Amino acid sequence: MENVDVLIIGAGPSGAVASAYLNKQNIKVLVLEKQKFPRFVIGESLLPHCMDHLSEVGFIDNIKKHGFQEKTGAAFYKGKHKTEFFFNDQFSDGWSWTWQVKRADFDNILISTAIEQGVEVKFECEVNSVAASASEQTTTYTDKSGKTHTVKSKYIIDASGYGRVLPRLFKLEEPVSTPPRGAVFCHIHDTKRTKKAGANIFIHSFNENSAWIWAIPFSDKTTSVGVVSNVELVDEFAANNGEKFLNHIRTFGDLVGRFENEKLVFEPRTIHNYAVRSKQLFGPGYVLCGNSTEFLDPVFSSGVTLATGSGLLAAKLTEKVLNGEQVNWSEVYEEKLRRGIDVFRTFVLGWYNGDLQTIIYSNDIDPNIKKQICSVLAGYVWDTENPVVKKHKTLIPTLAEVIRIKEKEA
Ligand SMILES: Cc1cc2nc3c(=O)[nH]c(=O)nc-3n(C[C@H](O)[C@H](O)[C@H](O)COP(=O)(O)OP(=O)(O)OC[C@H]3O[C@@H](n4cnc5c(N)ncnc54)[C@H](O)[C@@H]3O)c2cc1C
Repeated sequence: MENVDVLIIGAGPSGAVASAYLNKQNIKVLVLEKQKFPRFVIGESLLPHCMDHLSEVGFIDNIKKHGFQEKTGAAFYKGKHKTEFFFNDQFSDGWSWTWQVKRADFDNILISTAIEQGVEVKFECEVNSVAASASEQTTTYTDKSGKTHTVKSKYIIDASGYGRVLPRLFKLEEPVSTPPRGAVFCHIHDTKRTKKAGANIFIHSFNENSAWIWAIPFSDKTTSVGVVSNVELVDEFAANNGEKFLNHIRTFGDLVGRFENEKLVFEPRTIHNYAVRSKQLFGPGYVLCGNSTEFLDPVFSSGVTLATGSGLLAAKLTEKVLNGEQVNWSEVYEEKLRRGIDVFRTFVLGWYNGDLQTIIYSNDIDPNIKKQICSVLAGYVWDTENPVVKKHKTLIPTLAEVIRIKEKEA
């Protein structure tokens, strides 16, 4: 029987940040991770706001040493339209750059840095059951030899990402309201990349806003490419080892010629129904963070930033609980997190229904609105000084309608 203050399930970005924060407060943490690191996970384009979280737990210097591709903005394309956002031209005060990362390397650096700082992590240990209560939590896990162990802890942070351990065990899964979508993707050599093509992520929408391509260049002259759409189109693209997908990215728009005769780093892979949601984000003795809470859509690269932000906040509030303070989890955690996620939700809905695309591709987009949108794209979704954050639900459809009327009149 092991005894720790806080047990964290999962060593992805959310678990790594949460564990490092608690360890810095001299709280005894154990991270249990199912896989051996480095391990693959999709989600390679970061947002500037996650730099605030990584910096607070002392991760930035070690990440810098790796030489990941710096990301200063994002380019969006649709037919003949192109628009670029640069994070040094945004409304909120904050980071103006971040990275594009191969997550196997990036996540390994994060958790290795936490270990360097003193966090205990057990890899290849899968959590199977949890009995949670207000005072004591009992978790069982299986190690790689198949042996079962038990850990007692005062609190549990579920950072198990797509594993969604507590949402599954405690029946917290909630259906999502968005249509089932998926992605087909691979990494490909990109030796012909030109300066003009740029090194920032680009997103190219097609099929009347229902589908889009990502290209995320890495610093080692390989690039992550993917298509996101409804699951039927994803299956069509993925058939025959991704034949249609590869043909599409080799012949589409500005990509013509770029990936011709280039070797794949790995064969196309698919993910279906990536959107998930939990009906509550905390309970007696536990809190969910990262993808255990909710994942909407990859289009605005929000996943890792929400994972590091929620991991950090969950850790700070857990520290208070361990210090005997009363924490109103509903107000200071769940409502706060959902407010930020809701801003991204408006953007995601507006992306697929065309409202947001109408705004960003408009020739006469107000420069102030563009800065405000840029701050959301940088992840600063809790900056209520930003009118686009404050009034996102009404502002996005209204702006789109005004632009449509103006364009009709012109
Ligand atoms: C197609 C697609 C593209 C995406 N693109 C982006 C992007 O460009 N940018 C971005 O920010 N996000 C992106 N995302 C989202 C991103 O992948 C996730 O939001 C992010 O990885 C969540 O981090 P996390 O720490 O919550 O979980 P994870 O990174 O999934 O880590 C969770 C860890 O928990 C471990 N675990 C699971 N079950 C157990 C268990 N039973 N016991 C112990 N350990 C367990 C897992 O092995 C894993 O290592 C994308 C998602 C999709 C589907």
